[in-house]
Amino acid sequence: DHAASTPLTPVALEAMLPFLKGPGANPSSVHPLGLAAREAIEKARVQVAALVHADPAEVIFTSGATEANNLALRGVVAANGIKRAVVSNIEHPSVNETFAALGRQGLEVNAAAPEAIAGLSSGAGLVSCLWVNNEVGTVQPIEAIVSALGTLKPRPLFHVDAVQAAVATPIDFRKSGVDLMTLSAHKIGGPQGVGALIVRRGVKIEPIVYGGGQEFGRRSGTENGVGIVGFGAAAEALRTRLTADREHYLNLGVELERGLAESDLGIRRLALGETSPHIVALEWPGAEADFVVLLLGREGVMISAGSACHAGNRETSQVLRALGLSDQRARSIFRVSFGPDSIAADVERLISSLKKIARQAKSRN
Ligand code: PMP
Repeated sequence: DHAASTPLTPVALEAMLPFLKGPGANPSSVHPLGLAAREAIEKARVQVAALVHADPAEVIFTSGATEANNLALRGVVAANGIKRAVVSNIEHPSVNETFAALGRQGLEVNAAAPEAIAGLSSGAGLVSCLWVNNEVGTVQPIEAIVSALGTLKPRPLFHVDAVQAAVATPIDFRKSGVDLMTLSAHKIGGPQGVGALIVRRGVKIEPIVYGGGQEFGRRSGTENGVGIVGFGAAAEALRTRLTADREHYLNLGVELERGLAESDLGIRRLALGETSPHIVALEWPGAEADFVVLLLGREGVMISAGSACHAGNRETSQVLRALGLSDQRARSIFRVSFGPDSIAADVERLISSLKKIARQAKSRN
């Protein structure tokens, strides 16, 4: 269930410990301890920027991707007097609900499938599309959207939620043509409660949190130094591993598909076009995915159905509906997501646990 949250990478923990144990200086203080805290945060800013090929001055640390998405959308709408926005129909709730709130305040918001958003964007001030979907792993055509938006005058600002893309896709923010990009630490081996919004130089953005002017005046509040340092270390570790991780996830996915095919359980991988290899969406016709998740948990296998981010929400996933799946099919779909520490034995354990669940169901019927 790494797409929900990853364990802390050992190097991130190592980097965080001195901060946790340390004297607890404010990074805005000008005494030596304050300066040391500042230096650690600025090092992390360089590390996060390097992961996505951005300038460190473009990195704004936030309390996570939810806040980064809020800042991106509310911040540019407010700063640029935007009246209309276009968004994909497979976003995370932190984008959907922010647009819903902006809609109540008078913004016109049009939602469409990712392939259709550029066609709706003439005259819009802001376009938002997530890169890799968190529920099913689908990869959206970000490059094509950038090209299409480039032909519009004026060209709308383009925001991309790259939280799941950062896990296994090389990102070059500088070359991407994207204006605002959201990242989260706890999906890449960093701690929970820290993320970043990357804002292209020159893009006007109004803060959503006002105060002492930290983060270039764009996100006030004493920085989460411990979290930021962990984020930086995790980003640097991922940068050196990314290609190997990608290969590793592809192999695990192949193992999983092979094991399922041999099992005769009738579970199949959803055919979704290009997906990020760390997320595999599976369909078990006739099974209730929520129940499968519960029973797997009892076997010590942790996966998700729908998105862990909508805690307790039993409505059919909007993303699965947007992909054209009936409510009934959507309820039989669950998500397996790998991390760098996942191994072939985990896949075997998942399959043997699924077989056990199937046997138990049969004996009850
Ligand atoms: N966007 C996407 C695509 C996500 O997967 C998540 C995490 N589920 C978020 C945003 C929110 O991230 P955070 O937990 O850091 O607020």
